[in-house]
Amino acid sequence: MAAPHWGKIRVMRPEEIRKRCEEILKRVPGHVTVLAATKGRSPEEIRAAIAAGIDHIGENYVQDALSKRPHVPEPATWHMIGRLQRNKAKKALDVFDWVQTLDSLKLAERLERLLAQGERVLPVLVEVNIGREPQKAGVMPEAVADFIRELSRLPHLEVRGLMAIPPVPEDPEDSRPYFREMRKLFEELGREGIPGARMEVLSMGMSADWEVAVEEGATMIRLGTLLFGPRP
Ligand SMILES: *Cc1c(COP(=O)(O)O)cnc(C)c1O
Repeated sequence: MAAPHWGKIRVMRPEEIRKRCEEILKRVPGHVTVLAATKGRSPEEIRAAIAAGIDHIGENYVQDALSKRPHVPEPATWHMIGRLQRNKAKKALDVFDWVQTLDSLKLAERLERLLAQGERVLPVLVEVNIGREPQKAGVMPEAVADFIRELSRLPHLEVRGLMAIPPVPEDPEDSRPYFREMRKLFEELGREGIPGARMEVLSMGMSADWEVAVEEGATMIRLGTLLFGPRP
């Protein structure tokens, strides 16, 4: 078996990561949840972030989460934040507590069929393609309400909010209009009160623009580089 790719040279020692995470947590307002985006990071690095008080972990690939999570026994909530292929849905349910990147009805129906065999209800966020970028995942903003109405037919999926990855900003301010539009959508959908859908989590903002995201109403920010240093 090939060595897992997280076994690479580390940029920061676990103790440094822990200190860095503690410092960031002090700067983030209490109502905002910090999720550690841990792609390319080792279980040891993830455990350092958890030791600092971060209890939400985001991985981009099912296989990475499957190989890392057994080595991270600490209690934490694991989120799928990458594109989820339908043929990985079953394994995704084995390892993830939340899916933040739901953007297709076919994937939703596949998850529903798998979940219907048990008791569990899966919390999901709907990913919105807020920059309307053709190559990117996510539901177009104008289609989100209808998409969520369709999801309300699926009793084992529980919509808890929205997630977005705006176009890569050159300057943090570049993200502000996208975050603002997300917040507006989030509030409109909350007012609409679609059965089975709650608007509680607005997941937006990464290392480059998290402060702007918080100003514009993010309730969850997803940080990688800022917590762990540059990716190896
Ligand atoms: C990598 C990643 C992040 C964190 O990115 P940084 O710029 O390193 O903070 C956040 N969200 C998603 C979906 C990611 O893939």
